[in-house]
Amino acid sequence: MIDSNSTPAQRTSASVEQRADAMAQAMIDSGLAEKSFVEDFAHKAVEEWVPRNGARIVVKAWLDPAFKARLLADGRSAVKELGFDLPAIHRQLAIKENTADIHNVICCSLCSCTAFTLIGLPPSWYKDFEYRARAVRQSRTVLRELGLDLPDSISIRVWDTTADTRYMVLPLRPDFTHGWSEKQLIGLVTQDSLIGVARLEMQGIQGSERVRG
Ligand code: FE
Repeated sequence: MIDSNSTPAQRTSASVEQRADAMAQAMIDSGLAEKSFVEDFAHKAVEEWVPRNGARIVVKAWLDPAFKARLLADGRSAVKELGFDLPAIHRQLAIKENTADIHNVICCSLCSCTAFTLIGLPPSWYKDFEYRARAVRQSRTVLRELGLDLPDSISIRVWDTTADTRYMVLPLRPDFTHGWSEKQLIGLVTQDSLIGVARLEMQGIQGSERVRG
């Protein structure tokens, strides 16, 4: 059973914050990084690498079919049009489009890799051994445990992230958003839907607020 509240830190004596601080100090002490680099990285992680970036990309694709075609063909190049420059190690950004009968979900069976500059830092459950171990071989069950109960008519495709290939799901635009403004649409798209553990048309308007909160 996936427990969305559990974290790897709960299995150790040191908190996540303590371990992060220790690693940052070790990098500074060994000359691998300046203190300003660590502070800048922390600032970006909180303020700049947010799921709203991915939401903007998704909504642009919903509203602009030509952009969507470019996005699906070469994600890395297409997101540059919106001002998003990916880290050099993210050599490829693969956008996986959900349809009425195909559902895409992302994991990193090795560790915690994501297209984090676009979808935000991964949630704790994404890094948990349970999710990493079971997302590939028990995907339908794992999604159900995380609140997404897909009918058998929807096929599931699991994408296992590597160091140089990062994934983002392009959710299906819900029918109930007909006539919505771009700003309203951006507000609907959640991190869960960008990873693929939620479908916007199934969670509805109230559901999206619940997930975000
Ligand atoms: Fe990883």
